[in-house]
Amino acid sequence: MKKLKGIGVSPGVAIGPAYIFLTGRIKITRRILKPDEVSRELKRFHRALEETIRDLEEVKKHIPSEMAQPLSIIDAHILMLKDPSLIRETEKYIRESFMNAEWALRKVLSRYRQIFLSLGDFYLRERVHDLEHLIDKVILALQGQNNQTVLKEPAIIVAHDLSPADTARLRPDTTQAFVTEVGSRTSHTAIVARSLGIPAVVAVKGVTEKVNPGDLLIVDGLSGEVIVNPTQEVIEEFLDRRIECQERRAHLSRFAKEPAQTLDGRRVAVRANIELLDEIPLALEFGAEGVGLYRTEYLYVTRKDLPSEEELYATYRQVVEGFRPEMVTFRTLDIGGDKFAEELELPEEINPALGVRAIRLCLKNPAFFKTQLRAILRASIYGKVRIMFPMISGLNELHQAKEFLKEAFEELREEGLELQELPALGAMIEVPSAVAIADLLAREVDFFSIGTNDLIQYALAIDRGNEEVAHLYEPLHPAILRLIKQTVEAGHQAGIQVAMCGEMAGELFCIPLLIGFGLDELSMNPQAIPAVKNIIRHLSYKECQELVEEVLNLPAPEEIRLLLLEWFEKRGLSPFWNFL
Ligand code: PEP
Ligand code: MG
Repeated sequence: MKKLKGIGVSPGVAIGPAYIFLTGRIKITRRILKPDEVSRELKRFHRALEETIRDLEEVKKHIPSEMAQPLSIIDAHILMLKDPSLIRETEKYIRESFMNAEWALRKVLSRYRQIFLSLGDFYLRERVHDLEHLIDKVILALQGQNNQTVLKEPAIIVAHDLSPADTARLRPDTTQAFVTEVGSRTSHTAIVARSLGIPAVVAVKGVTEKVNPGDLLIVDGLSGEVIVNPTQEVIEEFLDRRIECQERRAHLSRFAKEPAQTLDGRRVAVRANIELLDEIPLALEFGAEGVGLYRTEYLYVTRKDLPSEEELYATYRQVVEGFRPEMVTFRTLDIGGDKFAEELELPEEINPALGVRAIRLCLKNPAFFKTQLRAILRASIYGKVRIMFPMISGLNELHQAKEFLKEAFEELREEGLELQELPALGAMIEVPSAVAIADLLAREVDFFSIGTNDLIQYALAIDRGNEEVAHLYEPLHPAILRLIKQTVEAGHQAGIQVAMCGEMAGELFCIPLLIGFGLDELSMNPQAIPAVKNIIRHLSYKECQELVEEVLNLPAPEEIRLLLLEWFEKRGLSPFWNFL
């Protein structure tokens, strides 16, 4: 038995076999075949090819049929793998040059690469990337390794990292948990894990080397423990812990649909953060009063091209109708930075988090932005919709974004669409400069939504995806608390509502402070909703306001944490998931 430790980012306990998911460059060696090995090698090659095609067909099954473009891309990839000349040439290298299949495939790839690149055509150059990716998949299949997060049997995924596309494809029915070597509480993998209710531990150094395929693992997504090949005694202890966890969740979910109102009558809207269509039933079941943050970029990450207005509209309409009569808050695309750059092949930047990301990227690419805005406005006819812009750092950006929205609105009206009025418009407050000018921004929008994941990253200068500085990521830092207070005050003075949709809004430990600050809405991963609503029902708004006063006098997070612990204890409440 081996014990490993990381950061628990999505609560729950899982026990299951390890599935090592490999990404990055693949090492292959050249081997000269003996003549009597040739026919076996040819069979090996064909088996790997068939397995890769089957995997792609499996991926296809999980893509909704209305998404024509991703489906057609996968079909094109399947056709590439079935291409007779690719097969013939590989066979020829195996048969006549006695090369092992991996080496033969690399030879074929380099020949195709030369031909495609010499044609100088942009489209063909892009196809070289596709071919490289496909051939890597076949090579991994030859080596008996995994490059699919769509599991056939329930297992625990162990990986260096998962890209947004890999994460978006995780299936809660077969992914029992995942463990990665990098990441933090607010990295995209952690956020999706919480949304889907998949236990997850990140920042476990060297886990892909310390664990072998098929090893039995226990993953505790709360404490961050990963136990490799546990003893029977330890297994039983964890099974008990899992039952306890499930019972608490079941208890809380019985009251999930009740409103969140404090003992002294302050009502707070509790909404869901969603990324994928699959999360709609889950969010409703957990008692979400609509969506406070729809991370629309996830529709873009499982593909290389851009979705059309029709595809976006079809998906958005499903979301809006799914939550009707409650509201859905569309956050316009937050692509760029270190998120999703891989799929869109954006230029590499030295400081991606400070580069062309989110609203900056959209304002630079008006056509791309307008397509999304048109799709949202068209979907808004079918229910209650709000729109908010990410990464607003100054008034100018907000003005420009609003201008595009107005243009899209007018265009659609001219085209005969029955749009009555613009949806409510919000600014995300996630860059410190936005807090400093919150009074000015508040005059321009109908609501604010505080994105603490980025606000903390930018205010404390801590890369949210870097496990080396994850311990410095501190929502209870007095600077962060002051920024939140300032934002709420500026919003309320201007008469607009202030929401929070960063991960902090779903941290039980922080809820009394957030209520005390006067936030009107908290939006979080759906799984957190029942517990957050429950705790709000045990709080008094007046006491929370007094707590805020006290906390704002303390100089450091450690002292704030201690005070909070005492505060919870005095009221017989627990800020920890597993003791609720
Ligand atoms: C945030 O930054 O807090 C936020 C909600 O947005 P994202 O996590 O998608 O950057
Ligand atoms: Mg953000």
